[in-house]
Amino acid sequence: MKYEVILVSACLLGVSCRHDGGHAYCPEVFDELWQSHFVPVCPEQLGGLPTPREPSKIEKGDGEEVLRGAARVINGKGEDVTGAFLKGAQETLRIAQLMKAGKAILKDHSPSCGCRAIHQKEGMVKGVGVTAALLVKNGLEVMSEEGEYVLSAALKRNL
Ligand code: SF4
Repeated sequence: MKYEVILVSACLLGVSCRHDGGHAYCPEVFDELWQSHFVPVCPEQLGGLPTPREPSKIEKGDGEEVLRGAARVINGKGEDVTGAFLKGAQETLRIAQLMKAGKAILKDHSPSCGCRAIHQKEGMVKGVGVTAALLVKNGLEVMSEEGEYVLSAALKRNL
């Protein structure tokens, strides 16, 4: 039997990798994965950030703008952590390609993994995280833990 390979935000599986040292265990995601080969990833840890760490927000844009160099990721101390977020996204993509993953289930609202909305200074806004944007750009099917798909910028423009 051939299993599909699915990348998944590690915090959704109960791994304590969130900025506050906690997790975001989601039993529905675990149920969805039981017949798959799944690969837990935490892009922020893969980018070299510690746990716990300062929470971060994308300033003036979302993950697609960060990839284009038009927005930055800033942590709670005001430090620019864009480089770590880009590295984490690249390393996550490397793992996806190594494992031949065609799909990812990511934690919504995160500046890395966000699928529909992300936290910004102004509150919650529509947008995607840096890793979600890079995976979509490279052909992965990306969805949130609630089953909402991330659309590529090209698809969004055509809606
Ligand atoms: Fe979870 Fe993604 Fe944040 Fe890591 S970067 S804690 S996997 S939401």
